[in-house]
Amino acid sequence: LMHLTKKLIEIRTMLISIDQSDALKLPSIVVIGSQSSGKSSVLEAIVGHEFLPKGNNMVTRRPIELTLINTPASADGKASQEYGEFPGLGLGKITDFSVVQRTLTDLNLAVPASECVSNEPIDLRIYSPHVPDLTLIDLPGYIQIASMDQPETLKEKIAGLCERYIREPNIILAVCAADVDLANSPALRASRKVDPLGLRTIGVITKMDLVPPDQGATILSGNRYPLHLGYVGVVAKGSGKKAGRDTRGALVKRSEDEYFGSHRDYFGAPSKLMVGTNTLRRRLMEVLESSMASSLHGITNAVQLELEEAQYQFKVQYNDRRISAESYVAETMDLLKGRFKEYTAQFRKPQVRANLKSMLEERVMDVLEQLYWTDKRASELTQLGADARVKLEDVEPYWRYKLEAASSLLTKSGVGRDSTLLVADGLRALIDSIAQAEPFNHHPQAAERLIQFSHAILRERIGMTSDQVENCIKPYKFEVEVDPREWELGRTGAVALFERELKALEDRLKDIRTRVGGSRRLNNLMGYVRELEEKERERKLKRLHGAEGDEAVAETADDYRYPPAQLVDGRHAMFFNDRIGILKLRLAALKSRRCKAGPESDALCPEAFLNVVADKLAYTSAMFINIELLDHFFYQFPREIDSRLLYDLDRKEIVDFARENPIIRKHLDLQERKDKLEEVMKQLNSLATLRPDVQPTPRRQ
Ligand code: GDP
Repeated sequence: LMHLTKKLIEIRTMLISIDQSDALKLPSIVVIGSQSSGKSSVLEAIVGHEFLPKGNNMVTRRPIELTLINTPASADGKASQEYGEFPGLGLGKITDFSVVQRTLTDLNLAVPASECVSNEPIDLRIYSPHVPDLTLIDLPGYIQIASMDQPETLKEKIAGLCERYIREPNIILAVCAADVDLANSPALRASRKVDPLGLRTIGVITKMDLVPPDQGATILSGNRYPLHLGYVGVVAKGSGKKAGRDTRGALVKRSEDEYFGSHRDYFGAPSKLMVGTNTLRRRLMEVLESSMASSLHGITNAVQLELEEAQYQFKVQYNDRRISAESYVAETMDLLKGRFKEYTAQFRKPQVRANLKSMLEERVMDVLEQLYWTDKRASELTQLGADARVKLEDVEPYWRYKLEAASSLLTKSGVGRDSTLLVADGLRALIDSIAQAEPFNHHPQAAERLIQFSHAILRERIGMTSDQVENCIKPYKFEVEVDPREWELGRTGAVALFERELKALEDRLKDIRTRVGGSRRLNNLMGYVRELEEKERERKLKRLHGAEGDEAVAETADDYRYPPAQLVDGRHAMFFNDRIGILKLRLAALKSRRCKAGPESDALCPEAFLNVVADKLAYTSAMFINIELLDHFFYQFPREIDSRLLYDLDRKEIVDFARENPIIRKHLDLQERKDKLEEVMKQLNSLATLRPDVQPTPRRQ
């Protein structure tokens, strides 16, 4: 029968890890009593070691779930080792019970003073050949009077905590001191509330040595406050400081034996009173065992129900598909690599070249604006180009210098650095988008690592790549040779670029026209803006000549004819109009016979020439960025994933990672619950062979 309790204690531990709800609880013995009633002394006497926190202040601030496991002697007859273990802390076997004591003290003190007591139990297991198989829950002692540092709420908190634990099916061990009237025992009072008939309460009367033996015997007879499971009297006085931890049990026992031995006439055989720690142990084992046995049927039913529900849910929600944290980690890595590969298509050479080209085209436009469109002689260039009589060798050196300046402005604009950064930024954005998407949105730390190491690869390559690119385009800073095929491509490219630009400007102009309310209004507005600008110019001129115009003041009133936002629109519209005019002229030039003639017309068709230069720069840059940056990154990145991202994780870290994803966590939780319930069910069924009278419940139909 001993075996049954042991088994059921194991099952109880498993059930607690599955579910904290009351439905799946096997009974435990809950120890309650007021402060200084001798609660700790009784527990230590049962265990045979001093291991509970000591101190004047309240020391038990958290429930201690104490599981005692009897370890039988080994085959060669040697007594097995005695040790304690905190499964939640991972400290391993603790053979020194003063370390157990210190750990408990620390865990208690870790509860902030403001909270006073915590509901979170401490799990402590003690393995010893000298302990019975028992589960005991030590609770904070009831306090009588609220003091300064133990406020009134504390009293209620402790009472509430105890109340939760003394519910069915637990057995209540009510500890009362013999020298205090039982009527005043908070433990008995609390027990009576939940167990009025005293069916699951055992009374423990401590300090029997402090009252005359006849009085002690009267208390134990239980006539005044009858308890079905009876009272056990003990003398559990620890000689505290003097006693070494190993001798304590023996010391307690000696004084107890002495006491009851010397009062045999009161407590001896005929009176049938229960006295002594040994009797208490035996009694607790009997009571726990019979209580567990009677819970067995109910718990088997409850587990069966829970199991069927879990199995059903697992089938419905996951189609019985099992997963593991490890498989999730592996899948996540594959997914990451797959997604990366898919996205890298954006970084093939033609794609990169096109991106660089459009960056350089913008730069071409800037150069044109800076050097040509604002040039007062710009119209001259167009006329020269249109005039068939003008021979190329007659074109003034002015335009030749201009072209050289424009070309060098383009080639010396830091293309190496800018093109490298453009591509690197693209890669960075790609990685960032992967890091923000499913499933990495659930794994902020892994996402951070991913970003960190990919940025590191990029950082390491950027300097070298931009130097390399800059070096390779260096020849273009001195001379750009253009063959007829390149010229034609450059020219049509420039036409396309201008047409796009023209369209963009026209669209913007249209927006303004709509905003202002039609062409006529816009023309009026522009006329007005022009007038204003004219006047402004005159005013400046006058001021320059020292003649302050008096009429200026009067005229500013006119400024209010249009709201300021419209004046801004007007100015923009004028600018766009001018720009459209220039672009149209130059488009015509680019499409003229002169420009089509070939590279020898370069000074007259700078747009075509600069576009060729941009093409060459883009081509060369793309080539070297590909070798120096992209190839390297694409080679390195998957390897870094393997070696840096989820590398070297231990089992717990893998599980923690997988559980960061709520979908996976739910799946794993249900799977685990189902597995554990299956295991518990198996164990419960196996008990049927231990006890023929306990039949496992038939499956529900
Ligand atoms: P707790 O606060 O309920 O845990 O009580 P303790 O176990 O710490 O005991 C309170 C005090 O009562 C301590 O000084 C113990 O030495 C003393 N004590 C406990 N049991 C006995 C006993 O059986 N006889 C005597 N004389 N003193 C006891």
